Amino acid sequence: MADALQIALVFPSLLGTYGDGGNASVLAQRLRWRDIDAEVIDIAVDEPLPEQADIYVLGGGEDTAQTLAVSRLSGLASVVQRGAPVFAVCAGFQILGETFLDARGATHPGLGLIDCHTNRLAGSRAVGELLGLPVVDGLDAPLTGYENHGGHTVLGPDAAPLAKVEAGVGNGEGVDGAVQGSVVATYLHGPALARNPALADWILAKVAGPLAPLDDTEEEELRRERFAALRRGRFRKQWRPPARDS
Ligand code: GLN
Repeated sequence: MADALQIALVFPSLLGTYGDGGNASVLAQRLRWRDIDAEVIDIAVDEPLPEQADIYVLGGGEDTAQTLAVSRLSGLASVVQRGAPVFAVCAGFQILGETFLDARGATHPGLGLIDCHTNRLAGSRAVGELLGLPVVDGLDAPLTGYENHGGHTVLGPDAAPLAKVEAGVGNGEGVDGAVQGSVVATYLHGPALARNPALADWILAKVAGPLAPLDDTEEEELRRERFAALRRGRFRKQWRPPARDS
């Protein structure tokens, strides 16, 4: 059997708020369900970043934790250069950009792997359900998750948004996330890939090629429940799922 595909979960002790480590588990399990061998490698903060993993996953984190994380992630540049997918959530997204704010509110250099700058949202933190309609080729199903951040992320011309925001805040500019080269980033927690199997498969296809469909009945049930919660809740915009997702 070929070697197992390796999913590197980067610094879960620093970048792991809201169960984002589940994104790595979801990627590995969706491969195994298709009889493709996969393993998750937890990378501790005092360990070197593995150079040859197949996919890298970064989660959210608090301001101090994300500042520490960025100081140990210079190795991600060569990962991105060789085209390995990197999936990053919230603080993980912010530290991949050009600049973000540290815990004292000072501007801090990011890794420069996404053309974006993160400053503070005007007003209160963005906390609540986040729903977006993808604006990237090959991804159609609405993206559902929740957000909890104070960051306002402005994309530059080299970064494309992942989705148009239908409910919630996302980057703070009417869009959520970023796609640039092999990097995919979002403000969606949940974990995002448990709530959005199509997004998980979109990332997996980059390393595993065309994938056989899976029975996502349970995931669709979760999505329907979340869409219904959005309709019940007090959100900036009322939203109804398109027919294909209802
Ligand atoms: N500390 C960052 C912010 O508040 C990211 C938070 C998170 O990852 N949930 O903007």
